[in-house]
Amino acid sequence: MRTADIRQRFLDYFAARGHSVVPSAPLPTPDPTLLFVNAGMVPFKPYFAGEAAPRWDRATSVQKCVRTLDIEEVGKTTRHGSFFQMNGNFSFGDYFKEEAIAFAWDLSVKPQTEGGYGLDPERIWVTVHHSDTESRGIWREVAGLPDARIVARGDEDNFWSMGVPGPCGPCSELYYDRGPALGREGGPAVDEDRYMEFWNLVFMQYERGEGPGKSGYPILGELPRRNIDTGMGLERMATLLQGKDNLYETDEIRPVLDRAAELAGVRYGADAGADVRLRVVADHVRTALMLLADGTAPGNEGRGYVLRRILRRSVRSMRQLGFHDPALPELLPVARDRMAPGYPDVVESFARISDQAYGEEDAFRATLRQGTTVLDTAVAEVRRGGGRSLPGAQAFLLHDTYGFPIDLTLEMAAEQGVEVDREGFTALMNAQRERARADARARKSGGAADTSALRAILDAHGPTDWRAWEGLTTES
Ligand code: ATP
Ligand code: MG
Ligand code: MG
Ligand code: MG
Repeated sequence: MRTADIRQRFLDYFAARGHSVVPSAPLPTPDPTLLFVNAGMVPFKPYFAGEAAPRWDRATSVQKCVRTLDIEEVGKTTRHGSFFQMNGNFSFGDYFKEEAIAFAWDLSVKPQTEGGYGLDPERIWVTVHHSDTESRGIWREVAGLPDARIVARGDEDNFWSMGVPGPCGPCSELYYDRGPALGREGGPAVDEDRYMEFWNLVFMQYERGEGPGKSGYPILGELPRRNIDTGMGLERMATLLQGKDNLYETDEIRPVLDRAAELAGVRYGADAGADVRLRVVADHVRTALMLLADGTAPGNEGRGYVLRRILRRSVRSMRQLGFHDPALPELLPVARDRMAPGYPDVVESFARISDQAYGEEDAFRATLRQGTTVLDTAVAEVRRGGGRSLPGAQAFLLHDTYGFPIDLTLEMAAEQGVEVDREGFTALMNAQRERARADARARKSGGAADTSALRAILDAHGPTDWRAWEGLTTES
């Protein structure tokens, strides 16, 4: 079954059961805790928080998601995309656990000829929160699951919460056993790649109070209206139904991977390192396309910086695979053609999207041309001297004179087995910032220090363009 069919089948199933079909929100979200929508429920948060009255009792959607926290996983695990689509069904004070579990089970195992996904019920495992005996009972009853395949887990994995005060409650997840070729036996607690999570059901049941972490807070009581939030990974279902080992091989992503392999003259499956790079390229090019389509532009901060890194990483991965010409003009149109049926705007806006993407690649190629030799020479020198760490001053020079963001220096040095003295680098960055501030103060008070050269550098590069991925978002 093609990804487009899986998407539609989900919406049809829930529409036939009284759910209003709600279109995906754009990826950049006004939610102050996030850069991008990272789950299907994000656009519905105000309803769950009780800040607005929902227009529906039941809704369903296929939401575009970007998870910055998963970017480093891409290509290494079999199941994490930086962009992915989350199919969801939602109940606002309407149905609860019993129906939510029954819907998820029914759609998963119903034969494909009858509108379901036709998964083998014998290979489905579920998790429940250890306190949630009710859900365990429902799984036994509705799905006839043996206790051995209903795994109890703690707060870390199976308890969800949002805001203080705000709704919280146990979750229950569905996993599919993909067989011994993909990992160790023993269920999802042992191996989450072999037993791949494909659907998460959240039961918003309680109100949480002030307190630390996931388990440290008190539960104030039952919510007046109980809600359901579920998320089924579209690409994960496609991976299962298309019989692929990983989500980068499904029909919306694989063609980009194939084109990248063709350009680089490598064969997918021949070398583990090259395979990871090919998957990164396929994933990142698609993510960049979807971010650009939704109006994010490459930049030095926040959303723009996530996009910039994603674009740069695709370009660098292609170089590492041996392809040194401009890559995006070859790859972006392939991603566009795959995504066009679900997202017509990627075609309508392609002139703008491609201008921005190709412009970014050109600028990055120029940066690499200028800085790579400097970096390589410095790294070689460190190694010749028997050292393990590139001095902070070198990293600062690369940043300041050659426009190499620190993360690029870190990444490229690490590839050659060398670390970077980050403390030294940060100290120099801070000193530069302090000089700029002093200069600004001096100018304000009529002082005459001539720091125009410094200013020019600062204007060209901005005060900072280093952010860890982790610093970009407060949620996964
Ligand atoms: P995992 O434990 O595998 O990282 P998760 O528990 O973080 O997944 P949820 O937050 O529960 O995922 O999201 C709901 C569903 O969205 C998951 O069951 C999965 O099918 C899908 N999903 C989550 N993250 C990704 C991703 N990075 N790429 C593709 N699908 C994803
Ligand atoms: Mg995750
Ligand atoms: Mg999980
Ligand atoms: Mg989950």
